Amino acid sequence: MTQNFSELQKKILRLKKEKKALILAHNYQTIDIQEIADFVGDSLQLARKSAEPNGYEMIIFAGVKFMAEMAAILSPEVPVYIPDPRALCPLAAYLDAEKICAKKKEYPGVPVVVYVNTTAAAKSEADYICTSGSAVEVVESLGVNRVIFGPDANLADYVRTHTNVEIIDLDEEGHCYVHDKFDTDMLKELKAKYPNSLAIAHPECPLEVQTAADMIGSTGMMAKTVAETKSKVILIATEMGMIQQLQKNHPDKKIIPIFEGAVCRQMKKHTLEKILYVLEERPEENLVTVPEEYVPHIRQILEQMNKVKGQGPATAVTAEAS
Ligand code: SF4
Repeated sequence: MTQNFSELQKKILRLKKEKKALILAHNYQTIDIQEIADFVGDSLQLARKSAEPNGYEMIIFAGVKFMAEMAAILSPEVPVYIPDPRALCPLAAYLDAEKICAKKKEYPGVPVVVYVNTTAAAKSEADYICTSGSAVEVVESLGVNRVIFGPDANLADYVRTHTNVEIIDLDEEGHCYVHDKFDTDMLKELKAKYPNSLAIAHPECPLEVQTAADMIGSTGMMAKTVAETKSKVILIATEMGMIQQLQKNHPDKKIIPIFEGAVCRQMKKHTLEKILYVLEERPEENLVTVPEEYVPHIRQILEQMNKVKGQGPATAVTAEAS
């Protein structure tokens, strides 16, 4: 399929080749950013891509900061830049290191599994890390009866309903404001209109929405399912950038957002202009670093996380500009 790039996109594509830059974009980025990225995927898929030896001289990470931090840890030889350093995930703000230490004291010996959507300080106190696509697999792989888990309470509910392991919440209030907006009435209304549709919900949605959907999965799993399903109409409960990507990649199918207001303002802080600026200037303030004392432990648990199967590969974008 021939791609019509804007002048700005062409400039970025030329420059990224010249500067040997790898551009990684999360599924929630706008389509114009996804089009110029080398890989588009969920946080697990992008963490794996950044860990591969690649011969690049810089990585530009269009996602929220904790994701870029993971790339910086997994790719210590290559500087990682974030187009807008203010792109912080509010879900990560629910959990600090002190909260984890307090739970460890309350439940001695019980392993702590944190969702990737956490700060480096919180990760430094965790025993394991998971993504939404690997949470159940990680928890089950531990072979224990109880696990301390967080900060997302909806994802904790998802794990609880898919394992026999007792899940102790790190924060019963922790949630993603984008996915927490979905409710079952929205889903029921669309199901009534499209009775033969397939409904997929992200596990950060409230449990009742997960239960009402036909499938639950990460954005990586959504991409795989939409590509493979025979259903022609698919209802999706996740961020709008993912819906736009799915519709673009599958013009023969009707991809319907369950709620059009599901937009992550933090992910959308990145723009093509900011990516170009970082490519040209390599500004110090956009360089992503993690305090040295956290790095060895986080690298070890991230490498462990990258070994689990998860829910599908990152999408390679073969964008080229002459
Ligand atoms: S969609 Fe939710 S979890 Fe993802 S970055 Fe935005 S606020 Fe954080």
